Amino acid sequence: MNRKNIAKKNRERYQLKRLLHAPRVTNEPRDCDVCRKPLPTPRANSKRTCDACLSDPVRREQQRQKYNKRERDRYVSKRQPIVPVMRVCQHREEKDGPICGVKFEAKRRIDKDGADRGVHPHQLYCPKHQTHKAVAHRRWINRNVENRRKLALAYRHRNLVAVRARQRAAAKAKRARVAAILAGQRPSDWYQKPLRWRVIADLLRSQDAPMSNSEVGKQLDDGEILKPYGDGNWEAVLSSSIHPAVKLLSKVRKWVNRPGKTPVEK
Ligand SMILES: [Zn+2]
Ligand SMILES: [Zn+2]
Repeated sequence: MNRKNIAKKNRERYQLKRLLHAPRVTNEPRDCDVCRKPLPTPRANSKRTCDACLSDPVRREQQRQKYNKRERDRYVSKRQPIVPVMRVCQHREEKDGPICGVKFEAKRRIDKDGADRGVHPHQLYCPKHQTHKAVAHRRWINRNVENRRKLALAYRHRNLVAVRARQRAAAKAKRARVAAILAGQRPSDWYQKPLRWRVIADLLRSQDAPMSNSEVGKQLDDGEILKPYGDGNWEAVLSSSIHPAVKLLSKVRKWVNRPGKTPVEK
């Protein structure tokens, strides 16, 4: 056999005789398994349910619940027989003293779906000594300080921008908190000042919005507690710019940090 014939034979041998993939589309009539309406043709061979039934939310929810129930049952049937874990209580009454030594059965954690999550490694004390405080204390003793510091620093370097933004926001919030507390407090020398000052300061502090001089004067007149200067009333006296009452009011304003209205707001 010459070379040409050998090549021809090889080609025939390796030539595919049939289609590589069989057709996966069918024209045969068939009804939907759920609603019994005829399925469209041509359609994929594997299609058994019409599109309307597949996208029906009620049916999907039913399918989901059925699936979940099956999974749950599978979990329960696969669950290993529970072997009790016996432990010795490690509680010490005082530092370097003897351990409690009571043997106890550690409680297993069983999930809602029946999966056994085993026994928690922190459960080291008998029911009498298994308190939140004891567990926290044990964690505190076992903590790896250096490693924790290293991890924290690495996190900071990885997320420097975000961490700095967070720190700035926290500092700003703290400043605002302190400012609010200070604004709510009376000055420390409150009782060293004359009663006249304290009455006016109380009036100024009673409102968050800044008050103009004439508003202060009006409220002082309405209150009828302080006698106005001479024979005028507070409103008139505070409206003139040269009267000593204006100077008094500005001093009190400075004392309790309640400036008047800025000219722009008028
Ligand atoms: Zn259907
Ligand atoms: Zn104990």
